[in-house]
Amino acid sequence: MNRRVFISCIACSFLFADARGHNSNRTSQIQQSRRERWEGDLKEAMWYVKLNLKKVRCDLCPRKCVVDDRERGFCGVRENRDGIYYTLVYSNPCAVHIDPIEKKPFFHFLPATLSFSIATAGCNIECAYCQNWEISQRRPEQTENIYMPPKRVVELAKHYGCKSISFTYTEPVVFYEYMVDTAKLARHANIRALMVTNAFIEPKPMQEACKVLDAVKVDLKAFSEEFYRKICRGQLKPVLKAIEVIKSTGTWLELVVLIVPKLNDSPTEIKQMCNWVKTNLGSDVPIHFSRFIPMYKLRNLPPTPVETLERCHDIAKEIGLRYVYIGNVFGHPAESTYCPNCNSVVIQRMGYKTSISGLRGNKCAKCKFTIAGVWA
Ligand code: SF4
Repeated sequence: MNRRVFISCIACSFLFADARGHNSNRTSQIQQSRRERWEGDLKEAMWYVKLNLKKVRCDLCPRKCVVDDRERGFCGVRENRDGIYYTLVYSNPCAVHIDPIEKKPFFHFLPATLSFSIATAGCNIECAYCQNWEISQRRPEQTENIYMPPKRVVELAKHYGCKSISFTYTEPVVFYEYMVDTAKLARHANIRALMVTNAFIEPKPMQEACKVLDAVKVDLKAFSEEFYRKICRGQLKPVLKAIEVIKSTGTWLELVVLIVPKLNDSPTEIKQMCNWVKTNLGSDVPIHFSRFIPMYKLRNLPPTPVETLERCHDIAKEIGLRYVYIGNVFGHPAESTYCPNCNSVVIQRMGYKTSISGLRGNKCAKCKFTIAGVWA
């Protein structure tokens, strides 16, 4: 554990104590019932339409759930009450941590800074290898939550010296209203707002969210509809559309692809994916090929061999992508950023230890080539 992570852990323990104390005072003051406590601040949802017979249709993500009165959508965190659709997770995070920004991972956005990171229960897909399934595949009444309205999130981020707030761990699409309101307040406080997402969202809400977000990291699960359907209970096509929307708004974008042995690692599929990235997003969007570790419902598979990740890396470089990384392999040379012009090390990484001595402003210190990213 390096010094910065150690300090973060200390800060987090304190933070949790602080936030829980805040919650228990508030609880005793207004004598909330158990049911009200897990609901956070009950708030009407955005992006839905009212139908006949008190039904609603949620237009936030491509599932477009049609929900009867007293029922919830697929994600389990949005509920129809008398024909009004509510989010149950506003101000109601179940995970709060202070992380190095490299953990998200963002490699071209304010490197070596801390990010105040929050998540609520719920997700709108179900990846068979989800590393956070104990909160993403739960309803808010099944997780341990703390009361933390947007204003408090921003206050704490500032207090702990974080340059950004990350909406992460589970799926921020399902806590959209909480994310957007927090991001708006963060901007006034000169703190950046970052979304770590599966991008399984309708184009319009994605476009609106980008007005208050500074960077988005998308987990592109694979480049086949079959993988999305069978392994994630999602769809590829709307994800690609949402990624294009993010890029078109000028919001900083990075991609992560978790390479699962035999399921999404074929050279043909990786070539198709990288060609799509180059054609539709350009060569400067960083892409991280990350190592799979057996998890959740996919414990029968081995971890991804490092050679497979290196093959993906080489394919992406041959196609012309400039910033290609290998993730979850401690100490691998492809954790670092190299200048696409002179190949010198611009940012050196070893796990979460980061040295930016090869960067001057936004340029390579050696040849002055402009390195794409948000550096200050
Ligand atoms: S956000 Fe949730 S309720 Fe809305 S369409 Fe997606 S899964 Fe259904």
